[in-house]
Amino acid sequence: MAILSQTKTFLNYINGNWQSGSSEDVSKSINPANKEEVVGYVQVSTREDLNEAVQAAKQAQKGWKKLSGVERGNYLFKAAEILEKKLDDIAETMTREMGKTLAEARGETARGVAILRYYAGEGMRKMGDLIPSSDSGALMFSKRVPLGVVGVITPWNFPVAIPIWKSAPALIYGNTVILKPATEAAVTAAKVIECFHEAGFPQGVMNLVTGKGSVIGQGLAEHKDVEAITFTGSNSVGNQIGKTAAARNAKYQLEMGGKNPIIIANDCDIDLAVDAVLSGGLKSTGQKCTCSSRVIVQSGIYNEFKVKLLDKVKTIKVGNGLESDTWMGPCATEDQYNTVRGYIQKGIDEGAELIFGGDAPNTEELGKGFYVNPTIFDHVSSKMTIAQEEIFGPVLALMKVDTIKDAINLANDIEFGLSASIFTKDISQILTFIDDIEAGLIRVNSETAGVELQAPFGGMKASSSHSREQGEAAKEFFTTTKTVFIKG
Ligand code: NDP
Repeated sequence: MAILSQTKTFLNYINGNWQSGSSEDVSKSINPANKEEVVGYVQVSTREDLNEAVQAAKQAQKGWKKLSGVERGNYLFKAAEILEKKLDDIAETMTREMGKTLAEARGETARGVAILRYYAGEGMRKMGDLIPSSDSGALMFSKRVPLGVVGVITPWNFPVAIPIWKSAPALIYGNTVILKPATEAAVTAAKVIECFHEAGFPQGVMNLVTGKGSVIGQGLAEHKDVEAITFTGSNSVGNQIGKTAAARNAKYQLEMGGKNPIIIANDCDIDLAVDAVLSGGLKSTGQKCTCSSRVIVQSGIYNEFKVKLLDKVKTIKVGNGLESDTWMGPCATEDQYNTVRGYIQKGIDEGAELIFGGDAPNTEELGKGFYVNPTIFDHVSSKMTIAQEEIFGPVLALMKVDTIKDAINLANDIEFGLSASIFTKDISQILTFIDDIEAGLIRVNSETAGVELQAPFGGMKASSSHSREQGEAAKEFFTTTKTVFIKG
């Protein structure tokens, strides 16, 4: 595997300029498939840098909001075109930086292109409604207007798609943006921002400030000139951001954890269900907020399902995501690796039966990375930690139930409510599931992961702050409404 010959230092992007952080400190981003490889260096910025970016974004918003939606859309179309041209390079950087397979990284980057185009088109769609006034001589209408400067705080698991699905709608509706990406995936984020730079966005409209979450992320949440914060990541950080933003009456949107159930009913196509459990639970090394982690199987097919699952999981090739036959890469970071190993130990200690994996691959090459083998626990009860907490790793928990009612009750016995799926051919079971499951994303005969950019995305319960992202739903968050009454 070729090591990058020149390790680049990536700068902040503020007011249309690439510049170092004022501390002149950098942090290194390493390849989780080989911790000896440095993918790049990023700025460890200060509040001073953040203030500069906020002032630039505030100033730029005055002109940006005056452009027509079509004009703003043209910048997004241009960014999409550039991202598409750089797709291979950006996808490879993503694989090197956070470990997902190249096929997944390419798919994600292509999705970033599609999201940019979708929101570019939004610039031509309606931004209000005509409302009949009780006064026949008056014209009354609502008009959607931008919020101002938006802070975008993103995680490392989708380092292209999430920054774009938050920034693109913010921009098209007339806001300006400061992106604070996860430190572990900040090189990939910087390469995405290069596309915005090359697209010629006016100075200050799109800004990138890298650095510690507790400094730059928290700084965005606290900053009086940042009108809204959109965040994806852990519940602990999300809830803190929510409190900080609420205290100064800023708008906020939090997309947080999931512990998503997949119900396998007696009447389902078992082979399809096995494939969905493996793909939904283990692709991206289980590091998707929508991944299938609780596998709730009806007793009539439990043993057959388990045998087939074990047969298939053995065929999974764990390895470097850059190799074409790799099915599952490493955990994205050392912290994540330690967290996953800790949860596996907890599962064992609390009495779940480890029936596959649980360890790390022991070859010399894979020993250099943060690899964990696909792991399956049987006899998991709902009280166990591995059934309640988001692991964010390649760990499946099998749980047995007699009826679909029991399955839904078990699925709902959790603080999270992001996504859920059922495998069955029975329409009445499907309708009951849709009615009774506590989840923002419901999938039938399909894995729990899988989000389409034109549809609302978000969770119930502790998984989100209850607003929705993507599709038309994004307009709700990134704009506010003026109601206008004109008497002739
Ligand atoms: P975090 O919630 O810590 O990080 C997400 C983003 O928030 C990063 O940009 C991070 O910056 C930033 N951040 C960190 N601390 C603060 C703060 N005090 N104020 C404002 N922003 C902050 O997630 P982790 O990366 O640490 O992952 C931990 C766990 O979170 C995972 O194991 C998983 O369970 C969950 N998670 C869920 C995701 C989802 O999609 N729902 C995505 C990622 C993680 P920095 O990187 O500099 O710390």
